[in-house]
Amino acid sequence: MESSEFTPQAARRWAELGGRSQTLLLNNVWCVTCGKTTTIVRVSGRMERDDIVLEGCCIRCDSPVARVVEGS
Ligand SMILES: [Zn+2]
Repeated sequence: MESSEFTPQAARRWAELGGRSQTLLLNNVWCVTCGKTTTIVRVSGRMERDDIVLEGCCIRCDSPVARVVEGS
């Protein structure tokens, strides 16, 4: 990931997922504009309740995309 911006809490939770899960999550984000799964780039992360909210851009069309990683 390049130029990531995570809040401290989100960064901690994100790190706990491990690299394999992180890669899977980043490469399986739905893009409404493309109408298919894409890779999210320029990701920022924040916590919303127990969930990590990832926000960034579609690697193909640069539209804003987001993904929620549900907490346990
Ligand atoms: Zn797209």
